[in-house]
Amino acid sequence: MLGAGPAGLTAALYAARGKLKTLVVTGPMVGGQIALTNHVDNYPGFPDGVSGPELSDRFKAHAERFGAEFLDAEATKIDLASRPIRVWVGEKLLEAKALIVATGMTHKRLGVPGEDRLLGRGVFVCATCDAILYEDKKVVVVGGGDSAVQEAIDLAKYATSVTVVHRREDLRACRCLADKALEDPKIRFLYDTVVDEIIGDKRVSAVRLRNLKTGEVSVEDADGVLLAIGWDPNTSILRGQLDLDELGYIKSDGIDSGKPGVFLAGDLIDRKYRQVATSCGSGCAAALEAITWLEGRPAE
Ligand code: NAP
Repeated sequence: MLGAGPAGLTAALYAARGKLKTLVVTGPMVGGQIALTNHVDNYPGFPDGVSGPELSDRFKAHAERFGAEFLDAEATKIDLASRPIRVWVGEKLLEAKALIVATGMTHKRLGVPGEDRLLGRGVFVCATCDAILYEDKKVVVVGGGDSAVQEAIDLAKYATSVTVVHRREDLRACRCLADKALEDPKIRFLYDTVVDEIIGDKRVSAVRLRNLKTGEVSVEDADGVLLAIGWDPNTSILRGQLDLDELGYIKSDGIDSGKPGVFLAGDLIDRKYRQVATSCGSGCAAALEAITWLEGRPAE
């Protein structure tokens, strides 16, 4: 198993319970994106919601109960054509009869001046991790999807003001989140607007904005800029092993990777839903496919 987000952890649970000797190479973080999420409100069975770290701890404990083992490290190279399949973690070589890849996604960047230089100095990607640093400060959130709106809501608990800058005239975020944010007096929305530059010497002090409809340029004071503009798939390790498109997405776009014994799960193969529940679903399906494949039975 590569990856320990909801998909990898669910796959580990199913594989270990299916009596496979199961090792999870966790990648950077057990829990994946939910490890960075304050409150998961829509995972079934938790009517009052649950914190992301608690949910990921529970997923991990559940997989461990059936014997899954964990290696807190990042895989550095794989060979999907060899038998057994080979996975390297630095110098260490691991061998597997089947492999489930659930490496998830990484935050996208804007690619504007100031962004790289001020990353970690006011430019940030995770409200859950950093919101407290912006107590009584002004924050700009870039994006218009669920992440941007959810993170704006989280930030507004601390910041004096949160300005969501979105390049279109409508939010992409779901109605339930959008309504909550629109009711929050600390959150304001600038539509049809892009960030052209993040300004600051040692730390972020402002952003240069441009209205796409009027062309008007303005400078908005800000102590922090949260980037919530989506995700890129973590597929660099798969380059040369599986067919990837120009954005790095796997072309097969399903659980079956097209390589014998190699299965895919989670956000890596989900361009649409990307919910904890759907990730768990594909992790479960990938493990069941792996079990079936190892038993030598054709998948139905
Ligand atoms: P997303 O849905 O892909 O939204 C990304 C947003 O960033 C879009 O509004 C997009 O604008 C904007 N954007 C992209 N590139 C940009 C650029 N270069 N400059 C300016 N704006 C840019 O990503 P997400 O919000 O992270 O959500 C990803 C998935 O996770 C979704 O399926 C979402 O439902 C799920 N999610 C769910 C929850 C929840 O249920 N509570 C929370 C977080 C995420 P356009 O609209 O113009 O494309």
